[in-house]
Amino acid sequence: MRIYLDANATTPLLPEVVSAMHPFWSEGFGNPSSAHAGGQRTRAAVERARTSVASLLNCTPREIVFTSGGTESDNFALTGVLQPYLDRFLAQGQPVHLITTNIEHHAVLFAAEALERRGVEVTCLAPNHAGVVSADDLTAALRPHTRLVSVMLANNETGAIQPVGKLARITKAHGAIFHTDAVQAAAKLPVDLSGEFKNVDLLSISGHKMYAPQGTGALFVRKGVNLSPLFYGGPHERQRRAGTENVPGIVGLGCAADLARSWLAENGPEHMRALRDKLESGLLAAVPGASANSADAPRAPNTVNLRIDGIDAERLLIALDLQGISASFGAACQSGATEPSHVLLAMGLSPAEARSSIRLSLSRLTTEGDIDSALQIIPLVIAKLRSLHRQQAASTHP
Ligand code: PLP
Repeated sequence: MRIYLDANATTPLLPEVVSAMHPFWSEGFGNPSSAHAGGQRTRAAVERARTSVASLLNCTPREIVFTSGGTESDNFALTGVLQPYLDRFLAQGQPVHLITTNIEHHAVLFAAEALERRGVEVTCLAPNHAGVVSADDLTAALRPHTRLVSVMLANNETGAIQPVGKLARITKAHGAIFHTDAVQAAAKLPVDLSGEFKNVDLLSISGHKMYAPQGTGALFVRKGVNLSPLFYGGPHERQRRAGTENVPGIVGLGCAADLARSWLAENGPEHMRALRDKLESGLLAAVPGASANSADAPRAPNTVNLRIDGIDAERLLIALDLQGISASFGAACQSGATEPSHVLLAMGLSPAEARSSIRLSLSRLTTEGDIDSALQIIPLVIAKLRSLHRQQAASTHP
């Protein structure tokens, strides 16, 4: 039995989600825009799913726009807000300013870079050593022409939670729009858009990080916030996102949102956090030279980012894979070469430290037995790699 510790990359589909989607791949195939009975059935299913997602986030169903996932939601938020300013202000020579952070997912960072190439001024806030950005830094970065602030809720590599409620309040007082990428937070932590996050204007979620299928997601757009669409076509999603809806995917996302609500209400995060803490403290005790990145930050309950002195993360992940453990590293693979993680570098780690860091992320299906097995296997694999390393060093420098 494999041990899956890569839930931040993608979560397994829950059986209830598969069952909920199933009819919409067979007899329930109608186009939700069709007026006939088949269309009305799928329209009703899409709207039920919208209500489920809205209930998870404590907003109204009309504020939910279904998308193809986190990447589209992030791009839609950034480009959708700033496009009208590009059209109006930049054409008249007036500056437009965007603030984000340098620990965002590339879906935000590269969208910001593309906007920068089109003339938008971009400021990236830097995190502290624990991977958390500060409200004071945001306040200092705001300019009269700051139109949008985008700060993620939980980081995908370290799990570090950003003070989004506070940052959104500051942004609102300044008169700018606030977006948060909650892809790694929704369905792991309570996200209340009418309470703690009432000043958040836009919020991205992704289906495949919350036990629904890949290629599904949503953007919360608070009532009154206007976005330019990314796509042109039909009047779907109240003119905000053209294209026939992915009905099975949306139904799966709705089901996953209902399951997440129950899981959150039944102390799921506490149980997950206890397993994560057992894994983390067990590894720190058993592996010499190991330390946890972002250990001093409030974190998503499922994520461990472990730095292991002298270990090449890529080699370790291959060795773990051979032993039946799926994990990941806080690094991006670009053109076949492993780049040190931009998140860990931003936190002040050296490239070598970033290259010796791995990410272990639990899912709701991770069991205590998985953690016990991982605690036996991972230290042994690391010890073996270290011994191989010593042998290689001895043979090259006899
Ligand atoms: N934002 C964050 C924080 C993520 O972790 C991811 C995916 O890893 C995305 C955005 C992109 O989401 P998707 O894969 O649904 O496009």
